[in-house]
This record gives sequence, structure tokens and C-alpha cells, in this order.
Amino acid sequence: MRPGPNSVHGPDGVYSAPMIRTTPQPLAAIASFHAHIYFDSAAQREIALALREQIGARFAVTLGRVHDRPVGPHARAMYQVAFDVATFGNFVPWLMLNRQGLTVLVHPNTRDQRRDHLVHALWMGEVLDIVDADGLPTDDEAELPPPPNTQPTLAP
Ligand code: ZN
Repeated sequence: MRPGPNSVHGPDGVYSAPMIRTTPQPLAAIASFHAHIYFDSAAQREIALALREQIGARFAVTLGRVHDRPVGPHARAMYQVAFDVATFGNFVPWLMLNRQGLTVLVHPNTRDQRRDHLVHALWMGEVLDIVDADGLPTDDEAELPPPPNTQPTLAP
């Protein structure tokens, strides 16, 4: 990846100066969250799809389509789970226990999508590249949680 002013994926893993904010942001900057569940083999795909069912049975979230090819800034096949701020406290720890070795990116949705993916990101497993991060907007409308498309029946 080309080292640029916004790169945080240098070999030393250190943020470059322009990405660092010195003033704390309020929690209210977070309008919603995404979890991206990645897979890169047929076996992992099967696990990922089973996990998708398990998520849908337990959480009021919005399950996105399964992308078998990398899309957008994502370097690997994956699906997205969109959820509101109140769901984070149960859903993310549940993912920690149940991701079965899959790589997961959890990121907030603020007005700054570039920072959300590069700096505000929480990775489980590997840290993957964010493709063309320089193209992500830095001052956009923050994405509100979409209406859930699951009907959970099980306690997580
Ligand atoms: Zn996302």
C-alpha cells in the first residue's frame, strides 16, 4: 500500500501524524456501527454463513448481503452487520466468543469514514488492508442504523 498522509498500515503500525486528533470526540459522534465478517475459503464461508444465522437469531441487527468478492474498501469476501449503539454492548462480546477464527472488523459510523476504518477500527483476528482508504469521505452524513431485518428469538 502506498504510504500517504492518511496511512496507518505502515510496517511499524504507527499512525501518521495527520490521522491523530488531540481533542477527544464525544460518544455522540457515533451514529451506528458496522461489523464486517470476512472469509476467504469455502470452509470459512460455511462458518461465516452459519454465524450469520446465529447472529440473526439473537440480535436485532441489519444483515447485509454476502459478498463473495471484495467490495468497497474491504480486501476480502465478507458480509456486513449494521447495528445501533445500544446493541454494541451485547453483540460485540458475543462476536468475541463466537467468531470461530474468522476475521472481524467493527467500526463506528461517524462523519469521518476514513478514520472510522483506519483509526477507530476494532479488529478481531487479522488486521486487513483497507482498500483505497484515501477515497473514503472525511466529512459526510454519519450513517444512522437501518431498520433491523432480523427477528431474534434466542437470548445471546
Ligand atoms: Zn462498514
